[in-house]
Amino acid sequence: MEYKSFIGGAWEETSASTPNINPSDTSDILGHAAVSEAADMDRAIDAAHTAAVQWAASTPQQRFDVLDFIANEILARKAELGELLSREEGKTLPEGIGEAARAGQIFKFFAGETLRQTGDHLASVRPGIDVDVTRSPVGVVGLITPWNFPIAIPAWKIAPALAFGNAVVLKPAELVPGCAHALADIISRSGLPEGVFNLVFGRGSKVGPQLIGSNKVNAISFTGSVPTGRGIAAECGQLLKKVQLEMGGKNPMVVLDDADLDIAVDASLNGAFFSTGQRCTASSRLVVTEGIHDKFVAALEEKMTALNVGHALRSDTQIGPVVDANQLQQDLDYVDIAAKEGSKVVGGQRLNRDTEGFFMAPALVTETTNGMRINQEEVFGPVASVIRVKDYDEALAVANDTEFGLSSGICTTSLKHASHFKAHAEAGMVMVNLPTAGVDYHVPFGGTKGSSFGSREQGAYAAEFYTTVKTAYTLP
Ligand code: NAD
Repeated sequence: MEYKSFIGGAWEETSASTPNINPSDTSDILGHAAVSEAADMDRAIDAAHTAAVQWAASTPQQRFDVLDFIANEILARKAELGELLSREEGKTLPEGIGEAARAGQIFKFFAGETLRQTGDHLASVRPGIDVDVTRSPVGVVGLITPWNFPIAIPAWKIAPALAFGNAVVLKPAELVPGCAHALADIISRSGLPEGVFNLVFGRGSKVGPQLIGSNKVNAISFTGSVPTGRGIAAECGQLLKKVQLEMGGKNPMVVLDDADLDIAVDASLNGAFFSTGQRCTASSRLVVTEGIHDKFVAALEEKMTALNVGHALRSDTQIGPVVDANQLQQDLDYVDIAAKEGSKVVGGQRLNRDTEGFFMAPALVTETTNGMRINQEEVFGPVASVIRVKDYDEALAVANDTEFGLSSGICTTSLKHASHFKAHAEAGMVMVNLPTAGVDYHVPFGGTKGSSFGSREQGAYAAEFYTTVKTAYTLP
């Protein structure tokens, strides 16, 4: 399979290409992706810039029809797209199919948003004058996406961008070209005018700066790591360009003495290790009060060590491989760092399976303190640590003692503590008796502090980023 860039309505090969390697079985090459250069990115931006005017003038019905077509095809093909996703990213098959379905649901939601237009018609404070407050498209938006949700994250940026009348240039992560290509293929048959949607493969460091720096690109929505995000924010700040960043997390799951132990263990197991821990919302810090600490650690350790790690497509696999060799090395390094910092580690070793893949046993790190590197830096793998605390007050302080603020969870049967935590957790999303990961698609997604910057993604709140508010005064 050749994954070509899609520029101005045409599929484009490049002389160079990179292999798309299955992390469950490195002998399985799914295809080869184009390696576009800065000049290709320029042409994609030009195509989007030219097409933006026409799409901005499209009717709600035209926009609905395009988004509904895309949604229907994704949903009808969710099993096949989910398998592709699992093969190239390493999520288990049910997780892959679930993510593909999520992408379809997101397009459905934003198809609906095209018809739910909002605006205000007001009386002026001055006599005889009318005031209209309306939303206009931003213009050309550059979308830069990470590898860990290879179809859902592009979907939750593309769908609102198109729904609100913008033209798009998508730059997906190098490791997962298959899902981006499949999505572009569906979009190319949706009736969208040529040039409104463009896909450019290539190295982030080569084509990314071109996208960010172009004066024909009006806004950048980025999801990825903190260092890349910071650089993009600095550049957009210089250019006074609208920017939205979703970045890392070091999400706490607080477990209080009064928690239902089964709920707390299951929520932590899911939040920390499912999807191989490669979720920005993963519960990587388990903050546990001393009365339940030993029982909780014993029960979680037992369930964690029983998890079946293996090939993402096998029906008995619960945890798929790490995405690639670099990420695996990073995960193993952090397990070493934690051990050297004086904590106790269960699991965390490299595993061999029938196929050559990046398999790793989930790791539970105990006897840690919040100041340790393992509790301050994002690992982005199947590694969670436990921090023992005295009571709720200390738990809340530890939960908030991080540069990140994406998702924060608590397991408790106390309404008082749950309510206090919802109000005082320094995070964009708070979960009570639920894993820190796992969100709905019709409500806003995003964080505070070092995790996010700019307005929220998803749900009706996406309008903030993908539109510009205009206030018009008329003297009839
Ligand atoms: P990354 O920052 O390495 O790459 C993200 C994207 O940026 C890729 O498409 C990459 O090609 C591109 N890029 C790289 N250098 C660039 C540059 N100089 N200019 C423009 N674009 C450039 O991140 P990753 O490793 O793909 O993803 C993992 C990270 O993503 C983790 O930190 C994770 O927490 C974060 N993440 C956050 C969320 C969220 O919503 N908060 C969701 C998923 C992942």
